[in-house]
Amino acid sequence: MKTLKINQRYTEKMKKGYPLIEKEAVYAKDNNIDEGSLIEVCDERGGFLGKGYYGMQNKGIGWVLTKNRDDSIDKHFFQSRFAKAFQQRSHLSQDPETTAFRLFNGEGDGVGGLTIDNYDGYYLIQWYSKGIYSFKEMIIAALDELADYKALYQKKRFNTAGQYLEDDDFVKGTRGDFPIIVKENGIRFAVDLNDGAMTGIFLDQRHVRKTIRDRYARGKTVLNTFSYTGAFSVAAALGGAIKTTSVDVANRSLQKTIEQFNANGLDHQEHDIKVMDVFKYFQYAARKQLCFDLIILDPPSFARTKKHTFSAAKDYKNLLKETIQITEDAGIIVASTNSSAFGMKKFKGFIEAACKETNTAFTILEEHSLPEDFKTMKSYPEGNYLKVVFLKIHHSR
Ligand code: SAH
Repeated sequence: MKTLKINQRYTEKMKKGYPLIEKEAVYAKDNNIDEGSLIEVCDERGGFLGKGYYGMQNKGIGWVLTKNRDDSIDKHFFQSRFAKAFQQRSHLSQDPETTAFRLFNGEGDGVGGLTIDNYDGYYLIQWYSKGIYSFKEMIIAALDELADYKALYQKKRFNTAGQYLEDDDFVKGTRGDFPIIVKENGIRFAVDLNDGAMTGIFLDQRHVRKTIRDRYARGKTVLNTFSYTGAFSVAAALGGAIKTTSVDVANRSLQKTIEQFNANGLDHQEHDIKVMDVFKYFQYAARKQLCFDLIILDPPSFARTKKHTFSAAKDYKNLLKETIQITEDAGIIVASTNSSAFGMKKFKGFIEAACKETNTAFTILEEHSLPEDFKTMKSYPEGNYLKVVFLKIHHSR
């Protein structure tokens, strides 16, 4: 086993449990290692810090898996991590109204670079580096000892420059007849685990969808921007919204959104589904003097269309400013971001600045981060990437 020496500036943080082995934390000369190799990390004096694997993932070159020198990284190791994680989700496993949720959340459950989601008995494994993928056989053998799934699918989230290139994500079991219908707090969603990078639903917004349905939608006009398959629109419609408008630039979004409305017995013709650049839609809405009671903003961290490059870290403030212009007085904006480039404090700073610059008063009604099945570690706050703020705005005209 190779030992990597951690730069002194990083050892304190790693002693406190920080699990990611950052590129800059190790000396460059140590860097000639195969992905998937087991490694030990030590401080500058050679003191043991932890054991893990080598795998390139964003800012990291690997993850610490254990701080216990006696642990061996084998099938048994993965099995015990899985068993603990599944145990912690038993409230979800037993809930007949929620059949889709995360079973294993990477470093939060003790194995960085690996997630497992349950979609009504169809499991989806996501591999975030070649390194973790090299443990595939061992990991699936460990999973098989514990879980009784219908089929296993995978997403290899490494090595694919921009576009998702895999054409078959099936691993084993009995293939699903996709789209299958999963439930989340009684809301039905059509999902397909074998259709590119995304499945049709982002499981980390479960509590936000429920909140919108149960407490914010009744009697409201709703605009859902960056709507993808319209999951928030469906939640709002089920919660009694007068009308929802879903806007997404991807052609697939129209059919996929109709599918989600149909899955819930809702008439999609009572709602608007627009295939359109959100920034164009803002201009259109301003021209038509459209105004909404509730606007949901859930852009990707980065996106490039023909006209626009959007980066949440740079452009969220302006996105909010445009949104404020078409929000009714005393209306609500649900501002969401999954960008790990900034935390809640900075995000609230964007909100404050946008309101100030548009002469708008606001109150924050509630805040959400990842749901409990997306388990995170205190020592690794970057892992808690989701930030959702419900704000009520007051135009001062
Ligand atoms: N809010 C969605 C998830 C959004 S995923 C949900 O709850 O399921 C991001 C979406 O933004 C993608 O569907 C992508 O097509 C869309 N998108 C990216 N840039 C856009 C733009 N400029 N205008 C409209 N949609 C955009």
